Amino acid sequence: MVDVEALVADLTLEEKCRMVAGEGPWIIPGCERLGIPDWCVSDGPVGVRGRNMGPGLVVPGPSAIAATWNTALVHELGQALATEAADRKVDMILAPTVNLHRSPRCGRHFESYSEDPELSSRIAVSYITGVQSQGVGACVKHFVANDQEFERRTINVDVDERSLREIYLPPFEAAVKEAGVRAVMGAYNFVNGHHACAQPEMLVDVLKKEWGFDGLVVSDWGAIKETVAPALYGLDLEMPGPGRWWGRGLLFEAVEAGRVDESLVDDKVRRIVGFLNWAGRIDTPTDHDEASVDHLEHRALARRAAAESMVLICNDSGLLPLAGDRTVALIGPGAAETALFGGGSASLVPHRTTSVLESLGERLGPRLVGHAPGIDMRRKAEAVPESWIDGGVKFELYDGIGFDGEPFETLDRPLPFNAWIGDNWPKDCDAMSVRLEFTMTPEHSGRHRLCALGFAHARLFVDGQLVADNHIDRFSASLGLHGGHGYLDLEAGHPYRIRLDHVPPEGNMWVSIVDVGVELADLSREEGLSNAATLAAQADTAVVVVGSSSEWESEGSDRVSIELPNNQDELVERVLDANPNTVVVLNCGAPMTMLWLDRAAAVLLAWYPGQEAGEAIADVLVGDAEPGGRMPTSWAWREQDTPAYLNYPGEAGVVRYGEGIFVGYRWYDARGIEPMIPFGHGGSYTTFEWGPPEVSGEGMEVTVSVPVTNTGHRPGSEVVQIYVAPPTGDVPRPPKELAGFAKLTLDPGVTGTAEIALKERSFARWDPQDRRWVIDPGQYQFLVAASATDIRSVLAVDV
Ligand code: BGC
Repeated sequence: MVDVEALVADLTLEEKCRMVAGEGPWIIPGCERLGIPDWCVSDGPVGVRGRNMGPGLVVPGPSAIAATWNTALVHELGQALATEAADRKVDMILAPTVNLHRSPRCGRHFESYSEDPELSSRIAVSYITGVQSQGVGACVKHFVANDQEFERRTINVDVDERSLREIYLPPFEAAVKEAGVRAVMGAYNFVNGHHACAQPEMLVDVLKKEWGFDGLVVSDWGAIKETVAPALYGLDLEMPGPGRWWGRGLLFEAVEAGRVDESLVDDKVRRIVGFLNWAGRIDTPTDHDEASVDHLEHRALARRAAAESMVLICNDSGLLPLAGDRTVALIGPGAAETALFGGGSASLVPHRTTSVLESLGERLGPRLVGHAPGIDMRRKAEAVPESWIDGGVKFELYDGIGFDGEPFETLDRPLPFNAWIGDNWPKDCDAMSVRLEFTMTPEHSGRHRLCALGFAHARLFVDGQLVADNHIDRFSASLGLHGGHGYLDLEAGHPYRIRLDHVPPEGNMWVSIVDVGVELADLSREEGLSNAATLAAQADTAVVVVGSSSEWESEGSDRVSIELPNNQDELVERVLDANPNTVVVLNCGAPMTMLWLDRAAAVLLAWYPGQEAGEAIADVLVGDAEPGGRMPTSWAWREQDTPAYLNYPGEAGVVRYGEGIFVGYRWYDARGIEPMIPFGHGGSYTTFEWGPPEVSGEGMEVTVSVPVTNTGHRPGSEVVQIYVAPPTGDVPRPPKELAGFAKLTLDPGVTGTAEIALKERSFARWDPQDRRWVIDPGQYQFLVAASATDIRSVLAVDV
């Protein structure tokens, strides 16, 4: 351990200003003169991408992790990810994401834990303590109220103080106070008129002063918009590098000019050096030799976690686990192309991929009668083949937003793909628009699908006619690209003039990536559906894997609807018509409507299960593992029933959190709306009996104990949930709120006791007038429950 104060005092202003802005996408400079190493951060929640974005372990998606309700398991996942980080010489993982499930349309819904602050807090604390127990930092994100992707860089969130305190802040508060998280990431959005990376109330008053946070606040990538305000109001590190507002000597100049006090820079550097000291990195020679190690024990852990996250939504006929003598037809786009994760910075190249088709196929052998995808869900067309391009691709680079004047540079390349990131960014240009043109001669005649792909706004023209625009029906592709597609009849051998215009947004982050895709359109939807139905009828049981993918659920854009993409409902209905013994496996991260729910014999919500997806889904389907998950969020029958419906996505640059504290089940309870799948719900392959609960302790320091017996014939797990219902009073409060939970895994015939300790906060509400937590006196009820709508017993307690 070194003397951080002395080290900071030895640094010159210039050195200090260099240390608070990145040097590339992931590296932050230290100070060689004083033995402070460069250090490295990396995304993210489901795996560590590393400096070179090489293959890594991919664990189940965050909503899935929350669905385990198993804090010990989440701790283990955190430890495994820290080992991955150490292999890659990464000092800090940019995770967890603890924004709340507000609107089901949010593109990053899959990347957050839950609609409930208590469940989110418990999972976040376990994840962070797991990561940090290995000397790797965690960075909780995105602070705060970053709950949608629509206008994500500019939207102003108008949210009242009580909702912030009771709903949106608690997971961050727990991360700071309970887990000692080393970093917090400031969000892209504005919160009540202040940019989240220069937010005096949130960053300075609440986070740093009230909660006593002594770690560092890093900007989301390209989030900051000016030099002085973030320096004054709580930000400590600008990312990525080269720092656009604090780099290039800009912060140094602001200090010299007296607009930022040097003591503020000292504080930022103290936090950064404090982190490096905590991680034992000062004076340790920096070794950048990144390794990508496929630890076999991590595969097993990811597989176990995936099975434990899966929610058995219904199985009334007992079709699952699949009986040993029945034949199976495997259907759906997710069977062969099982989606492992959602899109954006929470995706990475996995150590390995698995699919339901492969893994279940191995288990079933000849009992698998066949496979039919039914529907094609892919959105990104193949890259234009080089052989179709006559004379190469001409790129024109323009300074600014748009194509006025002359290009400042012209390049020739063989293909339309090109990326400018960090190092190769034209230094003199703050915002760059790119126009590319080429002549393309297709090989086949017929209807083609053409894709405009870009990091920002890309529009594709064929012979001067607009064919695709990635701001319309936008989908996510790899590398942070977003695509839009359009259809056109093309003739083989005929030359077409292709142009792509790529324009950055305001607050451009010095990244520009462009590409063009083209392929023959697949027009055989009816054929696919009828093949699927025919196959379904030939087997005893049909297993249909439907859902979503990183092209449909991603950072960077919200979903346009909460229906299964590409009308996969039609596929499910057709299969159900053909074979009522159908198991639907949902392979997605965010809520989907399921109007056919009552017709399916069994429904298993498998989420995005990570790299072991195929193995884990097969484990659960054949009964080698039990589906141990419970819903971390309520799913509605219709989007109109969801809490944020009338206050999403906002207008004129503002989204008002008009539903206030009534988020998730708090809303369904208060409004008397029946959710399609309640918060906390999940079935099991065994049965349980709950005994009478007991309360011990005094006042608000109480523990609720619930005996639970596995009355079935196989091991299984049960989650006992305690909700607190406040006394009725003048101030509106949610009818009940989750106060704690415990998960028990029991062998047949065994009884265990769930012990759930409550805390003062379980009874409190935030009083915005007095600006403090208050506890209304009166009679509280403890609801002992298996879900938000399955209350097993009620205890009354006077407080
Ligand atoms: C995301 C962050 C991520 C960062 C670095 C941003 O676009 O919002 O969650 O950590 O990129 O990849």
